[in-house]
Amino acid sequence: MTEVTLDTISNLAKKRGFVFQSSEIYGGLKSAYDYGPLGVELLRNVKTEWWRTMVQERSDIVGLDSAVLQARQVWQASGHEEVFTDPMVECRNCNSRHRLDKLDDPDRCPTCGKTGEFTEPRQFNLMFRTHMGPVDSDENMVYLRPETAQGIFINFENVRRTNRLKLPFGIAQIGKSFRNEITPGQFVFRTREFEQMEMEFFCRPGEDGEWFQYWVDRRFQWYIDLGMSPDNMRLRHHDTDELSHYSTGTADVEYLFPWGWDELEGIANRTDFDLRQHSEHSGEDLRYFDQENNERFFPYVIEPAAGATRTTFAFLIDGYTEEMVNDETRVVMKLHHRLAPYKIAVLPLSKKPELIEPAERVAAELRRKWMIELDVTQSIGRRYRRQDEIGTPFCVTIDFESLEDQAATVRDRDTMAQERVSMGGLADYLGAKLT
Ligand code: ATP
Repeated sequence: MTEVTLDTISNLAKKRGFVFQSSEIYGGLKSAYDYGPLGVELLRNVKTEWWRTMVQERSDIVGLDSAVLQARQVWQASGHEEVFTDPMVECRNCNSRHRLDKLDDPDRCPTCGKTGEFTEPRQFNLMFRTHMGPVDSDENMVYLRPETAQGIFINFENVRRTNRLKLPFGIAQIGKSFRNEITPGQFVFRTREFEQMEMEFFCRPGEDGEWFQYWVDRRFQWYIDLGMSPDNMRLRHHDTDELSHYSTGTADVEYLFPWGWDELEGIANRTDFDLRQHSEHSGEDLRYFDQENNERFFPYVIEPAAGATRTTFAFLIDGYTEEMVNDETRVVMKLHHRLAPYKIAVLPLSKKPELIEPAERVAAELRRKWMIELDVTQSIGRRYRRQDEIGTPFCVTIDFESLEDQAATVRDRDTMAQERVSMGGLADYLGAKLT
C-alpha cells in the first residue's frame, strides 16, 4: 500500500487543479477553498452518486433544496443557538486558540509547546452571523446554516403533504453549511464553509432501532461500492457522553486519514427531538397522522449526515497510488470510474492537422456521453502520466496508423494494457467498460 501524506495530496490537488486556496492572490483566506476544473467534477460526481443511491434509486426518499438563510427561531428551536458550541482554550504564551476536545494533551499548546498556559475553556458558538437587509440591528441578525438538516425539518409538513408520503420516508438534501470552526485544518478536511449530504429518514417510534442499523450498514457499504478500501474504514459508536444534544445513538463512519482515524459521516438517531421542538416553537402541529390507527404522533428520525467536500478529499487520499514501472515511479489516482473527473482522454500522437482532425471528431462524439479531455500538448508519455495522476480511466490515442485502419489505441489506467479499437466502435467499447 502507498503511504500518503497530507502534503502529497494537497500538492497534487493544487498542481493539477483540484483545489485552490480561496482568495489566493490576496494571501489566501484560511479555511475556505475553491474547487478547480478537476475538483468540481470529482465533487459533483461524489454528490451525484450520493443522490443516485439515496434519492433516484429509492421509492421512499425525496429531495429538497432549502435556503441557507432561515429564520433565527429555527436555530433557537433546534438548540443550536444555545448549545452548538465547542470548548475553546487560549494559550497565554502565544495567544493561539484551540478546540479543547480535539487536543492530544489538554495541558499542552500544540502551537508553542508550552504546558499549563491555557485559559479556562469557554463555550464558543460555531454559527456565523450576518444581517438581513440594510440595518445591522439585533432584530435583523440571521445565521448561516451550520447543517442542512433543519431546512428539512421545517419543511417536513410541506413535503409530506404535497407528495402524499407515508411513513417510513426520507427527505434528502445536499448543500453548503458554515461553521466558524475554532481550529480548521488538514486541508479541506475541516473548513469553515463546506458541503454536506444529509438525509432525514422519518419512521414510527419503535422502528427507529432497526432503521438505525439499516442506515449504518447502507452508508458504510456506499463508500466500499465506490472503491474505498475497507482496510481504511471503520465504524465507531459514540459513547453516551459524546452524543449530540438531540441524539440517543450515533455511529461514525471513520476513515484512516494520514493523521489517523477521523470522521467521514455520522449516522444519528435524532428521535423526535427536532419535529417536537419545531412544533412547540412554531405552534404548527408537525405530528404525523396515521389514518389506519387514527392516531397522531411525532415520527422518529434517523439521519445519515455526510460531508461532500470531506468525502471527496478521502476518495483522493484513498485513490492515490505509487507504483514502480521500469524503475520509475508512476503515480495513479485509482478513482472509481464513476468518480473520475474525466472518463476518457483523447490524445492525438502529434499536433499535425491530419491527426488533430480525427481526434476532435472522436472527442466530440464521446463528449455527448462523458467528460472528455482532448490533450494535444507534450510527449505521449507525459500525457499518459498526467492522465494517470488525475485518475482518467481510459486514454484513446490516435496515431498515424489510425489514418490507415480507422482504429485507435485504448489504454487502461490501472493495467496499462493497450487495445486497438475501431474509431466507430469506441463509444460502445468504452460504454461497456465504464460501469
Ligand atoms: P466534528 O466533531 O468533526 O466537528 P461533527 O460530528 O460536528 O464533526 P456533523 O455535525 O455530524 O459533524 O456533520 C456531519 C458531517 O459533515 C461530518 O461527518 C463531516 O463529513 C461534515 N463536516 C462537519 N463539519 C465540517 C467541516 N468543518 N468541514 C468539512 N466537513 C464537515
